[in-house]
Amino acid sequence: MANKMWHGVERLKYKWFPIINYDACNGCGMCLLTCGNNVFTWSTDKNAPLAANPGSCVLGCTTCGKLCPEDAITFQDDPKKFIGRLIRENRIFPEVRKELDARLKAHPDHIIMEELEVARK
Ligand code: SF4
Ligand code: SF4
Repeated sequence: MANKMWHGVERLKYKWFPIINYDACNGCGMCLLTCGNNVFTWSTDKNAPLAANPGSCVLGCTTCGKLCPEDAITFQDDPKKFIGRLIRENRIFPEVRKELDARLKAHPDHIIMEELEVARK
């Protein structure tokens, strides 16, 4: 798997992905449908998600866990503490600023025209 970057940090340097408690999971599928990064695949045998692409999980994201109706998803650490440690260790904000400048150069109001077109329809 390609090692993606997260604001200048190698994604695979850190362990962060959803841990599923299969005793609690009811097989609703909300986590799979919610994740925009294709972290999950589906096991038809188990009728449950598999965190098959853990390296695609966004560092510090907990969205699928928040939406899980059974609280069946946890992560390796408290997200605020985890991200705080990651920021301290990597001093990411110069890179964040560069990314913001590039974004604003390409889209001065941070309005991406394709999205605007879709919203108008
Ligand atoms: S959202 Fe929770 S209960 Fe639903 S499939 Fe995912 S882990 Fe299971
Ligand atoms: S934490 Fe976010 S990125 Fe990671 S699997 Fe859940 S929804 Fe996807």
